[in-house]
Amino acid sequence: MNPMTYRGPTYLRPQSDSSADHHGPYRQHGHKLANAPVSSFFGELTFSLKNMRERLPGDVYKQILTTLHTGNRLPSEAATAVAAAVKDWAVQQGVSHFCHWFQPMTGSTAEKHDAFISIQNSFHSELSVIERFSGSQLVQGEPDASSLPSGGTRTTFEARGYTAWDIESPIFIMEGAVGKTLCIPTVYFSYSGDALDYKTPLLRSQKALSQAACGFLKRLGDVDVKKVTPTLGAEQEYFLVDADFASQRPDLLLTGRTLLGASPSKGQQLEDHYFGTVPNRVKAFWEDAERELYRLGIPVKTRHNEVAPSQYELAPIFEDANIAADHNALTMEVLKNVAKRHGFVCLFHEKPFKGLNGSGKHCNWSISNDKGENLLEPGHTPHQNLRFLAIVASIVAAVHRHGDMLRASIAYYGNDFRLGANEAPPAVLSVFLGDFLEEIFTKIKSKDASKPIDPQAIDLGLNHLPRINKDATDRNRTSPFAFTGNKFEFRAPGASQSVSMPVAVINAAVTEVFDFASGRLDELFAKGIERDTAVIQVISELYEQSKAVLFSGNNYSDEWLLEAGRRNLPHYKTSSAAFEVLRDEQQVKFLHDAGVLTPAEIQARYNMQIERYNTTLSIDASMLIEMALQFAKPAAEQQLCQSHDLLALTGSQTLKKTLSQYIATIEGALDSLLTEVETMKGMLAEAEGIHDEAKRSEFLDNSVMPHLGLLRDACDLIESQVADEFWPLPRYREMLFSQAYTY
Ligand code: ADP
Ligand code: MG
Repeated sequence: MNPMTYRGPTYLRPQSDSSADHHGPYRQHGHKLANAPVSSFFGELTFSLKNMRERLPGDVYKQILTTLHTGNRLPSEAATAVAAAVKDWAVQQGVSHFCHWFQPMTGSTAEKHDAFISIQNSFHSELSVIERFSGSQLVQGEPDASSLPSGGTRTTFEARGYTAWDIESPIFIMEGAVGKTLCIPTVYFSYSGDALDYKTPLLRSQKALSQAACGFLKRLGDVDVKKVTPTLGAEQEYFLVDADFASQRPDLLLTGRTLLGASPSKGQQLEDHYFGTVPNRVKAFWEDAERELYRLGIPVKTRHNEVAPSQYELAPIFEDANIAADHNALTMEVLKNVAKRHGFVCLFHEKPFKGLNGSGKHCNWSISNDKGENLLEPGHTPHQNLRFLAIVASIVAAVHRHGDMLRASIAYYGNDFRLGANEAPPAVLSVFLGDFLEEIFTKIKSKDASKPIDPQAIDLGLNHLPRINKDATDRNRTSPFAFTGNKFEFRAPGASQSVSMPVAVINAAVTEVFDFASGRLDELFAKGIERDTAVIQVISELYEQSKAVLFSGNNYSDEWLLEAGRRNLPHYKTSSAAFEVLRDEQQVKFLHDAGVLTPAEIQARYNMQIERYNTTLSIDASMLIEMALQFAKPAAEQQLCQSHDLLALTGSQTLKKTLSQYIATIEGALDSLLTEVETMKGMLAEAEGIHDEAKRSEFLDNSVMPHLGLLRDACDLIESQVADEFWPLPRYREMLFSQAYTY
């Protein structure tokens, strides 16, 4: 039997070449490194600072350090020296090609490879080559970019797109099945200098945030602060599905999610998957993937089962946000590739299976100063604690002011299936601080010192204020933006999304509030008010202005949505509605002000996102129509023929009656399938005729989307009714529960 058409439990799967291969590379790396301490191979595939120190002339190495500190341009002679050193290092490890690695707005990473070789000389027809790599090849590239999205900022006749080396993010080696490629992390922009990628706005936002934060901190008394960096730890959720099953599900292959599939009798009701025992096969995948990630210098730390069957999570130790964003993109690539070696498909779609939890990417965010102090850590001195409160108050104000844009930053077709579905926060942005911190803010406001002092408390050094309890961070898993002790956790981003936009928006929003608060402090100082008093006043003003965004209750409840409405918090139910924020000048002004995105770049992003949303929804709809006709309809027909035969044959009157009811059910489903198919075809044709993308998405949302659900219902009913032999697709129970029973 051809393994590709086999639809049975994985453990009985006929051996195919690909399945024999499942453990090949695992054996290769896994065994070599199995007993080696991680520290001995961590980062071995990166051109790290250690490599640079060893391989570069001292003055060049110093210039690199200066560039990293100041953000100034690296002199071109230095770039030439780095290029030579990195080429030697790479060639020694068997690397033949290099590429500029970037993150265009397709949502995945992009790379265009060039060989190191260049012709040394040619004698008659005989060529000889050497490996060569110049400073300019390192620093800048020019991929033909006409087929990557630009949202209209670049017309095809000026198709040029440029890439430029981001010196902050380590150069790394990607190992393929046979050869190796040197990857240079880069930004990607157009001829006119418009950002065409995710990295550029993130870098710009970090610069703006650092400036504003330094200004604010200086006013708070940290006079020698030079740089502030946002830090990020992105928890990545995903599903693993057996590759043989996935290969028989055209929906999984083309759309990354199951467009139909009857609910299995057992889903996640027993809550026995979360933190549960991990199947050996999955463990082998984890160990293999983690070794790859460690070799790439990615500090993955925790891994566990998630809530849904076959769902998992991996989280790294946090890093500077820019590097963490690259590392998250790279982690997704590595997980996808290593999954293949283990006979799995790794799904990052936000909602691959109806009725089960979807996948998110919790962004843990904080800021730290150039001494490496986490500024969201309540400290040991009254000064540190006041600074802590001022920063927390600013962040709360940032979310309150820019909830619209934060919502827009996580707007994405797949994410709509997850947000507000009682498994992830709703699409309303609110902040959870915990009762204790909220109480502190209330008391600061009312200058009330009545609370008994807790032995665990932290000294604010102010007699008229209570002390802050250090570990007062109770958990609220339903909040979209929760303070978790020493960082905020933004839980709304979807599993497949780049973290860069959400993080850039947080950075820019906080930048705006820091600047505002600095301005307020200056006004108070000018009136001769002394520092701590002024700071307390600004904290209470910020708190007063933004406390409507604070919510500690259950974000999944209907009451909260009503309450949020009363508080005037924005609620964009669909992504297509949230994209409109990008067209509201008032809402995006803070992004221009912080230099994160120009109006033209924002317009381009709007164009790209809405078009992508419409296209994805339309693909889902056509794919479902195809599957209904190719799989569900024939299954129903076969069952009907068989049941009608029996009806004609049987002499039992009672069976005639029950069988007729059964037949009627399937006939009803088939009828509804055919009706829905016709309706949807008509609607898709109509959608094609709508050229304004905003109007088109409105039409797709209101007309096509509900019918996607109805057509699916008809297919699912057929699946649940017909004989197993007539149902051609792998079922939920097979895809979700087979892992635990394989090797
Ligand atoms: P929790 O117990 O809240 O889940 P963890 O310590 O397990 O917290 O961290 C969850 C994620 O948050 C990890 O990826 C971690 O690296 C990240 N994280 C921790 N501290 C910070 C910080 N200061 N800035 C950014 N991310 C952080
Ligand atoms: Mg989690």
